[in-house]
Amino acid sequence: MSVGYLTHPSFSKHAMPGYNHPESPERIKAVWNALDHAQLTPRLTAIEPVEATREILRAVHTETFIRLLERLEAENRPVLIDQDTYALPRSFQIARLAAGACVRGVEAVVRGDVHTALAAIRPPGHHATPNNAMGFCLLSNVAIAARYATQQLGLERVLILDYDVHHGNGTQDAFYDDPRVLFISTHQSPFYPMTGHLEETGTGAGVGATLNVPLPNNTGDSGYQQVFEQIVWPAARRYQPQLIIVSAGFDAHWADPLAQMRLTLAGYDQLARSVLNMANELCGGRVVFVMEGGYNVTALGSGMRNIAHRLLGDDDFDDPLGDAPPSHEPDLSALVAQIVQLHRLG
Ligand SMILES: [Zn+2]
Repeated sequence: MSVGYLTHPSFSKHAMPGYNHPESPERIKAVWNALDHAQLTPRLTAIEPVEATREILRAVHTETFIRLLERLEAENRPVLIDQDTYALPRSFQIARLAAGACVRGVEAVVRGDVHTALAAIRPPGHHATPNNAMGFCLLSNVAIAARYATQQLGLERVLILDYDVHHGNGTQDAFYDDPRVLFISTHQSPFYPMTGHLEETGTGAGVGATLNVPLPNNTGDSGYQQVFEQIVWPAARRYQPQLIIVSAGFDAHWADPLAQMRLTLAGYDQLARSVLNMANELCGGRVVFVMEGGYNVTALGSGMRNIAHRLLGDDDFDDPLGDAPPSHEPDLSALVAQIVQLHRLG
């Protein structure tokens, strides 16, 4: 199985000087090291990312917002866009490269140049809305790639599955009225950015094509499994996607410093296996995994490594962190039943 691999040395150059920000270059370095350590890098098919053009960005982002980022590029100093989100003079260029990596990954998979693809990128993207940067994100990477798939590659149904611990509000906003993308998000709730309520299901022609699964703190491997079996699988089967793009965030891992969920690396591996099975059953195996959050760099590095193993068809599995400390897992039955009824998945 050929696996496209998209990354770039520039992804380690977006860094807030003199400030220990969780969205740091150490994250991408951990991924590179984990893939190198497992001797995976030479087995992946390197695809050189190119910066997403202004025209490609404009298919998701507003002119006003792009001009703002261009002005930041002309500043000769780091800028805080909000209290979480920084930009340096080079950051917009690096973000264009991250978005462009997703676009090229999607293009390579849809054209059949590779079977699947893995994008190891930063800054992350799923909080960036059409007109705003926020939550460490500058450009809405996955949304830009999905829009490219529908507008330029002729796809009619793309599934975006976002299992980052935070709600992908930016991705949701980009497709809220667009039935050509089914957006499914599992996220800790209530939690940053305080969106992703189950009642948010889309608008206009997009009604029903946004599916939010807001999960209580301490949801772990079995809870996520239940959500995949009872919600994600039936929704995906009904939608019949032609391509699956995963917003793969590792901040739902129990050791993540920013969130309070309890997925283990074994649980994450189950999710990746499930997505691969889904892609094989529904869309000829066409799937692109895109790195989003994840602030325990060991969980992030090993998690990305495990995805690469799975895409390559290996049985190898790496877990230096092990099980979550003992705790009570919440019962999701009522929540799941409510979402099944709301989206008529029963
Ligand atoms: Zn996140």
